Amino acid sequence: MIPTIFYISFTFILGLLIGSFLNVCIYRIPKELSIINPPSSCPTCKKRIAWYDNIPILSFIILRGKCRNCGEKISWRYPLVEAMSGILAALLVYKFGPTVEFAVLYAFCASLIVISMIDLQYQIIPNEISISGIILGFIYSFFSPVFTWKASLLGILVGGGILALIALIYYLMMRSEGMGGGDIKLLAMIGAFLGIGGVVFTLAIGSIIGSVIGIVLMLKDKGDSKAKIPFGPFLSLGALGYIFFGGLLFDTYLGLLW
Ligand SMILES: [Zn+2]
Repeated sequence: MIPTIFYISFTFILGLLIGSFLNVCIYRIPKELSIINPPSSCPTCKKRIAWYDNIPILSFIILRGKCRNCGEKISWRYPLVEAMSGILAALLVYKFGPTVEFAVLYAFCASLIVISMIDLQYQIIPNEISISGIILGFIYSFFSPVFTWKASLLGILVGGGILALIALIYYLMMRSEGMGGGDIKLLAMIGAFLGIGGVVFTLAIGSIIGSVIGIVLMLKDKGDSKAKIPFGPFLSLGALGYIFFGGLLFDTYLGLLW
């Protein structure tokens, strides 16, 4: 069992480091800045961050969440994203082993983290990620041992199609835009990687979690909340649920039916 523990720990640390890069993406993509250059600096005092202050999670704890130079608070989102990336990488490699399938699913999950954090802050889902995701997921389906290109294509069409239809019906009834195009492209991307089963599962779980959170927020604001709740994070949670439990639950469910 030593090799297993070894590669899971290694993957966890790698996930933490990639999480640092995901933070750069989350900060820079909505501002249309390059994600490669220049190196990270404090958003407040612009001082370049030294490598020893840029160690995932540890630096945040050592610096007590403050910039070493100006003392300005560092957002809790930074260690959170790093932790999520590390934990997801470790869980995925535990479930799928050190395989290509693992690498692809990790890249997919990492994109979902970036999309969710940007959607939470700006209520947008960048096309750079969703459209690239649709294309890459479809290309990968030709090489995947567990997935066919037809399953991927169907996932894209149904994923995008269901939400486009809901958005259209909502628009015709309410004469206002209820769902952004970003959500439509995100579910299409999820379909590209997880197929039609993934789309149905994601939409069901995402809607349930989204509704519960929506009702809680409405009660908290005593009903006068006009804040738009982003749907991207809930769809992402649904997709994660499908990756880790969905196949199993679906098989059990279908087994009961037939
Ligand atoms: Zn600073």
